[in-house]
Amino acid sequence: MNPHHATAAELGRGLKSRQYSSVEVARWFLDRIHETHGALNAFVTVTAERALADARRADAMIARGEGGPLTGVPVAHKDIFCTDGILTSCGSRMLANFIAPYDATVVERLTAAGMVLLGKTNMDEFAMGSSNETSHYGPVRNPWDGSKVPGGSSGGSAAAVAARLAPVATGTDTGGSIRQPAALTGLTGLKPTYGRVSRYGMVAFASSLDQAGVLAQSAEDAALVLGAMAGFDPRDSTSVDAPVPDYAAALGRPVKGLRIGIIREFFGEGLDAGTGAAVHAALDGFRAMGAELVDVSLPNLPLSVPTYYVVAPAECSSNLSRYDGVRFGHRCRDPRDLMDLYRRTRGEGFGAEVKRRIMTGTYVLSAGYYDAYYLKAQKVRSLINDDFRRAFSQVDVLMGPTTPTPAFDLGAKTGDPITMYLNDIYTIGANLAGLPAISAPCGLVDGLPVGLQIIGPHFSEERLLGAAHAWQRDTDWHRRLPPLYA
Ligand code: GLN
Repeated sequence: MNPHHATAAELGRGLKSRQYSSVEVARWFLDRIHETHGALNAFVTVTAERALADARRADAMIARGEGGPLTGVPVAHKDIFCTDGILTSCGSRMLANFIAPYDATVVERLTAAGMVLLGKTNMDEFAMGSSNETSHYGPVRNPWDGSKVPGGSSGGSAAAVAARLAPVATGTDTGGSIRQPAALTGLTGLKPTYGRVSRYGMVAFASSLDQAGVLAQSAEDAALVLGAMAGFDPRDSTSVDAPVPDYAAALGRPVKGLRIGIIREFFGEGLDAGTGAAVHAALDGFRAMGAELVDVSLPNLPLSVPTYYVVAPAECSSNLSRYDGVRFGHRCRDPRDLMDLYRRTRGEGFGAEVKRRIMTGTYVLSAGYYDAYYLKAQKVRSLINDDFRRAFSQVDVLMGPTTPTPAFDLGAKTGDPITMYLNDIYTIGANLAGLPAISAPCGLVDGLPVGLQIIGPHFSEERLLGAAHAWQRDTDWHRRLPPLYA
């Protein structure tokens, strides 16, 4: 079997049984990256030498009978994760010269699991975007149709895995940036519970919302990678000190008897008919597996987009104040004085969307408007939380679409930020409430993938992965490849 036709789990098994070596597998993917880079722009940096060195080490471990299910399996990291000695740009000119001096915990743990680093993937600048068009390195294209966006902000990771330039990749999700690109490229994307995975070494956007996760070919792959990256980290004060379950072992959980809440607010105006039909077909599939479908309403959920676009910019304006041209990153030429240094460094280093967010955030936190915007948004955030809590007293999981439409044309929404923000209408709620959520492919609409979203209570990743896995045992949507990359 060609390595790019295998899932990460299958590659791990093939490596263990010596069907191929890790060096062969790494070369295979490096060649694919090389051949297709111009078309997709999925990578900011390709770490070919590092990949081969990692692969040789993995082969030696496997030869000694050591290692685990991911040993020797390649991975690509979103360029938001610090990687020791490697450019970590976060898709921004501000960090286009930043060689990270240490590894993020996610990177460290996946390296310790024996994974092979192929490179760093393109992304929206500072993870702000829904289409991967705000990157300093240019837009990423959707492998299913090069005239469409791959979604964002983890668009490079999504395009890389969808085109099988990497078997699996990391991503981050502040308002949907794992699930939304996963849906638009036919992948399984998991955003874990807030605090499940350490944020240490992950460039901060909105700290109360940011969470690291996985863009994978299957629920099984997502389970394996989550298991390797999750867990308490004393270097992140919001990381939760709770044992990491064996996610892969939980995949066999039966769906029979599962109580599924269908979120009424997710099926209203704005949902594309084809996407809605695919999601309804998936829900019928769950009913056929013995799940019970219950209609639920989360009345405050429609407020999640405006709430998010107060809270996230507020936190970003604070987090991004560190880019001052003094300590690291971009610095303007020949500053006249300190104010000139700040102004020109930030003026040159940040793109338009990042500036828009910093200005909005500074405004909503200002003395005169704090109560009217920031405090109000925090109150609505609590109401949204309560809606979810109430729903989970009745049902085990919630289901609905991941995105309102399939992938849209490059450039279609760049002139209108509000229309762009509405892409995250179904994903943001889980971030505001810190809940885990997964998107699994559930159909093709005019040749473009769409996703089913499953949201669960805090720390219910096993349940979400189990449900997605059961669906994937019955269907082959997750096995479909973009025709150009088959
Ligand atoms: N699209 C949302 C935004 O632009 C979410 C981004 C994310 O999850 N990083 O903020």
